[in-house]
Order: sequence, then structure tokens, then C-alpha cells
Amino acid sequence: MSRRYEDLSGPAIAERIKPESILLLPIGAVEQHGPHLPLSVDHVIADEMATAVTNACGEELDVWQLPTLSVSKSNEHAWSPGTLVLSADTLMRVLLDLARSVASTGVDRLVLLNGHGGNTTHFGTALREIRLETGMKTFLMHPSLPPAYGGTSTETELGMGIHGGMNETSVFMHLRPDLVDLSKAERKVPEAIADNKHVKFGGSTSFGWLSNDFDPDGYIGDPTGATAELGKELFSGAVSNLCDAMEEVKTFDFGR
Ligand SMILES: [Zn+2]
Repeated sequence: MSRRYEDLSGPAIAERIKPESILLLPIGAVEQHGPHLPLSVDHVIADEMATAVTNACGEELDVWQLPTLSVSKSNEHAWSPGTLVLSADTLMRVLLDLARSVASTGVDRLVLLNGHGGNTTHFGTALREIRLETGMKTFLMHPSLPPAYGGTSTETELGMGIHGGMNETSVFMHLRPDLVDLSKAERKVPEAIADNKHVKFGGSTSFGWLSNDFDPDGYIGDPTGATAELGKELFSGAVSNLCDAMEEVKTFDFGR
């Protein structure tokens, strides 16, 4: 049975979506990922991951998958042809509008599944805005935590496989091998900041960056050794991780 929100009828929504249901909103991006990957990477990963998670634990936890929001805040890639950008302000309004719409079903839990690292800080703010405005409990998950926010990437990338690197390219090769051209990939690791103690990705002191600050090709990491096998492993690991997290979301309570 489909657990896609938009596959229900209006009357069925009233029947099936309960306060204790969980709504899952995947958010992707359409943005440059270097010459070896298409613009659609974050959109495809968010969308496929949401479907896999809903298939794996949606029935048990009463999760409903909302339509994927494909375009988001990609202004760090605005310099590149092809990138589509919603400004921070527009994206916040879109999220609030969607949240208000789904809150009218009476549901109490909304999970954002963020496929684009560049949204992460902004979505932290959105969780509070949505909670304040709608009263829903709000949560943010990632197919994989971005390295800039404490997630890991491979040793050969010195922890800086931020964008279009080994892991992301591998996951995408697992999902859409026909859209990857590894012959165009090179190692693009910003060695200049590798030895910094504080001012680095995930360090105690953050910095503003655009994806072409480090290299004109605009990807950050080393995709040269990416494989579909690694991607499959990462993808299924993420699905079980997210289902684990979803179980806590299901029963999360402030305890007062
Ligand atoms: Zn990406």
C-alpha cells in the first residue's frame, strides 16, 4: 500500500492521518556537483531515501511521505550554470506554508529529511519557527550528516568530502549509475586548511564559503575511488539509521 501523502484522497487524509502519525518531508536541491555528477544528486538521494525509509518502517511507525521539495537554498553554487536557488527567506516561507497546510490534518510530528548540506543551519531555525507557528513537534534528519556539521567523510579526503566527494558520488552511483561520469572526476581536497585546528569544516570556528572558493570546478572531496558497492552499503546503513531515529521521533516527548 502506498504511504505517499498525495496518493490519498481528501476524505482519506482525514481518516488515515492521525495526531500520532509522522509526516516525512524530503528536501533536495538542483545544483552543480562538479562535471562528474548531474544537478539532481541531492533531489534524487533525498527522494529515494525517503521512499526507502517509508518502505522499511512506515507501516510500523505510521509514516507518510510528502512530495519531495526539489529546489532549496543552493546559493553557494549560484555561480554555476544550472543551479536553481531559493533564497533563505523564500525557503522559510515555503516551509511555513507547507507546515501550516499539513498541520490542518491534526498531525503532531513533522520530520524534514534534508538532502542538501547547505540547508542545515537554516533548517535549525525552521524547526523552531514551525513549532512556534503550528504547535507541531519538528525534527531534522539527513541521509548522511554533512561533514561540515560533524559528519564523517573518508580518510583520503581528510574529512573534507563535503560536496560531490567519495561517499556522495558512491551513493549516487548506486541509485543512478547511468548519470555518473567518473572519467571527469579528480581529487579536489582543500589541503590548505587540512592542518587547521579550529577554522575548518566541523571545527570550533566556522567560516562562510562558496563552492568555487577552493577550486573553480566547485566540488570538494575525492570521488575518484567511488563505487556503487560502497554506495549501496552507505545507503542501506542510512536507511536503518533513519528508521532507528524515527522510532525515537515516534515517542519523543518533552517530559513535562
Ligand atoms: Zn549534494
